[in-house]
Amino acid sequence: MDKKLYIHNTLSRTKELFETSHPEVGLYCCGPTVYNFAHIGNLRTYIFEDILKRVLLSLGYKVRHVVNITDVGHLTSDADTGDDKMEMGAKREGKTVWEIAEFYTEKFMENISDLNILDADIWPKATDHISEMIGLVKKIEDNGLAYRTEDGIYFDTVKFPTYCDFAKLDPESLRAGSRVPIGEKKNPTDFALWKFSPKDVKRQMEWDSPWGVGFPGWHIECSAMSLKYLPQPVDIHCGGIDHVRIHHTNEIAQVEAATGKQYVRYWIHGEFLVMDKGKMAKSGGGFITLDTLKERKIDPLAYRLFCFTAHYRSPLNFSWESIENAENSLKNLRSLVAKETAGIKGDAVKKGVDRMLEPFWSAVYDDLNMPQAMAAVWDILHSSEFSPEEKRSAIEEADTILGLALFSGEPQKHVVDSGAEVEFKVRVISPEEISGELADKIINLANERCKSREAKDFVKADTLRDELKTLRVEIRDLPDGITECELD
Ligand SMILES: [Zn+2]
Repeated sequence: MDKKLYIHNTLSRTKELFETSHPEVGLYCCGPTVYNFAHIGNLRTYIFEDILKRVLLSLGYKVRHVVNITDVGHLTSDADTGDDKMEMGAKREGKTVWEIAEFYTEKFMENISDLNILDADIWPKATDHISEMIGLVKKIEDNGLAYRTEDGIYFDTVKFPTYCDFAKLDPESLRAGSRVPIGEKKNPTDFALWKFSPKDVKRQMEWDSPWGVGFPGWHIECSAMSLKYLPQPVDIHCGGIDHVRIHHTNEIAQVEAATGKQYVRYWIHGEFLVMDKGKMAKSGGGFITLDTLKERKIDPLAYRLFCFTAHYRSPLNFSWESIENAENSLKNLRSLVAKETAGIKGDAVKKGVDRMLEPFWSAVYDDLNMPQAMAAVWDILHSSEFSPEEKRSAIEEADTILGLALFSGEPQKHVVDSGAEVEFKVRVISPEEISGELADKIINLANERCKSREAKDFVKADTLRDELKTLRVEIRDLPDGITECELD
């Protein structure tokens, strides 16, 4: 079977063949603003992005996956007005903004792990990249597309002639139809690149800049961080569908105004989770988190499976009944897998597997059609044409995309220990069975790193850690003297 990914690109509004000339696919996903828990609607987006990443890996691509952590600013309104979400969260909980950011970042990471979402390679924090943001704003200013008002530095959208193209906005009605007071802004669509701290308020998070003390605009964060970690044009930039009109439109404008080059080649957007015919949102307070589901004894992976019941570009209706159905469905799926493959160990039998999986792969490579892919999985399990060995191999392979832990209830892990041949105890954990050669390579690098650390050669130790990272290995030094290497 000819394995190629066709994916819907918001730029062209069509399904396109995915291609890249980069040695690694650059994948940038808009991350959380860490002022509150993520609700399950937010998490739907990360699940579709995880499927995309797993599909790219299945095609043999290396992927460099970046997800930002917005831990500064971000006003409640897209129009650069309203309260600052982070400062608001701090006020609500009587904590510092930094404490709020740390707490909700940790909570977000727990959600990612509970949903069996593959870890990003880089999780850059906005507060660590203020100088990159200032640099980008300077370029825009040098190119003559920024201007100053009383409260900040703004992007002049009229000077970027293709501003309306991406979201297919109608420039006339935008200008004529604005009833919102725009203050000193020249045009309603102009947006803040840098905001000044209000004179009468002491903000907890503020920085010096060539224009005065203040904080970055939200849109500039993602642009600065994506350009720092990924080559331009960035292969793929993902996010929720609500980002098309303002956040991503503004990102394109500012990056292309600063660099004069195309920013992103494939823009991929996921639809909303809806509840009672409305988008799930944090405003109003009544939103559902993954912890809410866990309190009701619903397996987070049942929520993952629930997300596969609709295409990522279709709205998905949430109800307690539907999530309970997904929970039952996951249990049935696991018991059917156990029954159909009873007593069979994982040693791959390839015979009928490719043929069996053809409908599955056709579905996932056709714009990540997960409802169809799930139907293919049920068909495999119900088929009488294939042996239990073949079924086991096929389902294991499918689960590298599904991530539903179909065999153990836990994500499958294979462990290799370093034994006695090397000086330090190294343990390699992998979601897939790894060959002796790869395991040896990881163990040797980890062992070298332990040696460097013992010799206090931290530069070398860091280089080795980076080298392991390129093999998709995350390293942890455990208190009992074991160095754990987790391969994703
Ligand atoms: Zn973003």
